[in-house]
Amino acid sequence: MKEYKLWIDGEWKTPKHGKTRIIENPADESQVAIVSEATQEDVGHAVEVANKAFYDGRWSSITPGERSNILWKFAELLDAHKEELAKAESLNTGKPYKTLSLGGDIPFSIDNLRFFASAARDTHGSRTGEFASGYTSLFRREPVGVVGQIAPWNYPFLMAIWKIGPALAAGCSVILKPAPTTPLTALMMAEISKEAGIPDGVFNVVTGSNDAGQALVEHPLVRMISLTGSTETGKKIMEIASRSLKRVHLELGGKAPLLVFEDADIDILAAKATFGTICNTGQDCTAATRLYVHKSKLNAVTEALVEGMKKVVYGNPFEDATEMGPLISKIHKERVSGFVERAIKSGAKVLTGGDTPKGFEKGYYYSPTVIVAADQKSEVVQNEIFGPVITILPFDSVEDAISLANDVNYGLASSIWTKDIGLAMKVSRKLEFGTVWINDHLPLASEAPHGGFKQSGFGKDLSIEAVSDYLVTKHVMIGGV
Ligand code: NAD
Repeated sequence: MKEYKLWIDGEWKTPKHGKTRIIENPADESQVAIVSEATQEDVGHAVEVANKAFYDGRWSSITPGERSNILWKFAELLDAHKEELAKAESLNTGKPYKTLSLGGDIPFSIDNLRFFASAARDTHGSRTGEFASGYTSLFRREPVGVVGQIAPWNYPFLMAIWKIGPALAAGCSVILKPAPTTPLTALMMAEISKEAGIPDGVFNVVTGSNDAGQALVEHPLVRMISLTGSTETGKKIMEIASRSLKRVHLELGGKAPLLVFEDADIDILAAKATFGTICNTGQDCTAATRLYVHKSKLNAVTEALVEGMKKVVYGNPFEDATEMGPLISKIHKERVSGFVERAIKSGAKVLTGGDTPKGFEKGYYYSPTVIVAADQKSEVVQNEIFGPVITILPFDSVEDAISLANDVNYGLASSIWTKDIGLAMKVSRKLEFGTVWINDHLPLASEAPHGGFKQSGFGKDLSIEAVSDYLVTKHVMIGGV
């Protein structure tokens, strides 16, 4: 079994106390790798190395063109390794290899990195002006410094690229801490970064528990923390980061609504809502989770959705036809089924799913599930389940639909389903979500910002806005000119 150490200062380092963790394949509960558990001391070492690299300018002070070329080479090398990266990602998470890892996450992430490589050439945005008599002002945009980046387990490779891509493009030095259970592709990526020419110490990966993440948040030399994770962790990190007034960038949970109006194309909606619910086994912060349907179409939509869910092909992630793999872990499966069981007890009706599919007792499989919720205030409607579970409720009017959609603490993504573009635009203005899709759900683009409103966090991933989040503006005022 392959054993990984920590990636610090451009080489593999044994953790101080030699503690390790076994990485499991959630599809069959087999062991796939051994990784290191970083201690606070290891994290401290990685931060010092990153800090030295930042201040000696080996990355932060080279030209934008040089940084861009290295990031492009990094993307090309990741592309050349895409099969092994996709295989590791599927072994580590249970994602369908063909349709999701190799066909989705890995190539999309590489496209994201290419975007950030290009953006690296346009980060400075220097502007000059004479705003006070006798003075010339110059605005410089400079990298924030050493950045601690903490990632979740649902899209390990994608989230790692969303973090390091904009930070490196901006000229920062980075310490990435993947989720404890899914560090494999981040570690593989780190080794490849050296071959691409990213200087030692600029990109470090420390694997380990929440404590390792917390050590990053507490470290005085870290200038900014970027977290993708749960809202609960976001609140905790913000509180700890406030003690040293670090910048925080938070991409947190979601509970995406789909508003289905009377004239929506039901076949298209049902197909996309099914995919939006089961993609990545529902472990997606933008997953389709709350379906609100105009009361006149409730029966037709419900029938089409249930039919779609029953046809989902789940099973071995390495079989080509597989559309949905297992949940990430035993604990997480218990969490998901707990939500469904409590919903039933409080009056909800499960139309399909809500169980372990027959023949899939090994691994952490859970059937695609459709629930008619008891009411808007019930737990399954209000809280993030992070599994292949969608709730259905009817609405009477446009205003009713908007208010139901906004009536949760989250605000990451939403979708509107209608042929009336005027109605869609009117509703999109009222939805308090960072993304509003019209007649679709889930697609992203490297150029388009992704991020939350309300308790889904702040700061953007993807797009030039993500790069801006890792830059600070300095005003240089030249007198006597
Ligand atoms: P999590 O919050 O449990 O963990 C995320 C990361 O934070 C892990 O690396 C973990 O070790 C670390 N962590 C936990 N406690 C910490 C602490 N006190 N100090 C420092 N680090 C700490 O989340 P998860 O279960 O890994 O991921 C699922 C969550 O991520 C869901 O809520 C999901 O919606 C969210 N998510 C959001 C987006 C987005 O773009 N908004 C994308 C993907 C996932």
